Amino acid sequence: MITSKSAIITKLPNVGTTIFTVMSSLANEYNAINLSQGFPNFPVSDELISLVNQNMKKGYNQYAPMMGIKELREVISEKTYNLYNVKYNPDSEITVTSGGTEAIFDAITAVVKTNDEVIVFEPAYDCYVPAIELNGGIPVYISLKYPDYKIDWNEAKNKITPKTKLIIVNTPHNPTGAVLDENDLKQLANIVQNTNIFIISDEVYEHIIFDGLKHNSLITVPELQQRSFIVSSFGKTFHATGWKTGYCVAPKELTVEFRKIHQFVTFSTFTPLQYALADFLKNPANYNGLPKFYKKKRNIFLNSIKKSKFIFVPSKGSYFQNLCYSEISDEPDYDLAIRLTKEIGVASVPLSAFYHDKKDEKILRFCFAKDDETLNRAGERLAKL
Ligand code: GLN
Repeated sequence: MITSKSAIITKLPNVGTTIFTVMSSLANEYNAINLSQGFPNFPVSDELISLVNQNMKKGYNQYAPMMGIKELREVISEKTYNLYNVKYNPDSEITVTSGGTEAIFDAITAVVKTNDEVIVFEPAYDCYVPAIELNGGIPVYISLKYPDYKIDWNEAKNKITPKTKLIIVNTPHNPTGAVLDENDLKQLANIVQNTNIFIISDEVYEHIIFDGLKHNSLITVPELQQRSFIVSSFGKTFHATGWKTGYCVAPKELTVEFRKIHQFVTFSTFTPLQYALADFLKNPANYNGLPKFYKKKRNIFLNSIKKSKFIFVPSKGSYFQNLCYSEISDEPDYDLAIRLTKEIGVASVPLSAFYHDKKDEKILRFCFAKDDETLNRAGERLAKL
């Protein structure tokens, strides 16, 4: 073994390997059904795959422009306008990124300086806080309450100080499946009005929303839109998480700073896919069917555990369903997630992983982006508990 001469003083003392990697590795090791890390197990559209292939053969294999190819930025602009009625300028307000995570890192890094406070609602997706801390920022936590995880906007207002630089919201929400309604947006607009607070809105599940609910993008409220980085993900929308491609739309002044970071994090994003997406995204049928498609999967999963003692509120959006097991066991959620992977062969993510203080409310998160047979098999095993 080679020993290094000097030890690194860690910048992230509270961070280990992500729970997604831990649980997926364990699922593989024990050959368990993997409902932990969120990714589909069914194929990407043949048409999209052919388009990527054709563009590789056409020779689009060198660096794309730093901000993304113009053709794709133009289609993103049209799509955003058609859905949310705001026209972003493709040249100065839209950036293609290597996934939603990169976009979130870039936006946080563009905005947060030493000792700036950032409001984070917990449970929170795991990439927000490390990015805040790497930039010297201070996360200010607000804990959302099981089972509906509604934001108490009065509490949020009370947490705002002169140091508050940024608020991060996420709708549809990973890991709870909660969504922001119009009233939430109104309240958020009220509390940021007359401040210089920026917002990152993680909307990577914008097309995965159920039961007739509409996705309330922050783009639709001018008070919010003008101060927000809105992040979306092609990986989620087109069942291809491994392609790591997403984008950020933000007003010009924000995009200037965003791109300064983006250009030194990845510089640019996978070229042939951008040409393929520029074509594929033109057809709204390629994403409009997602609510119906995923609602069916959610219902298959919930139906398969109907007779169990799990307690749940059906997910409103995203491809995650939380199940509370307080009637089944009093084990810590992390231990149970590990035990279920090893013993019954179903992997999930313990919700405590999404809290800085590892709050354990006896809840596990299951990904239902799986073929029907896999969902039924997992449900059968879980129903026996
Ligand atoms: N977004 C995925 C999830 O929530 C995980 C992505 C990752 O592994 N970093 O499960």
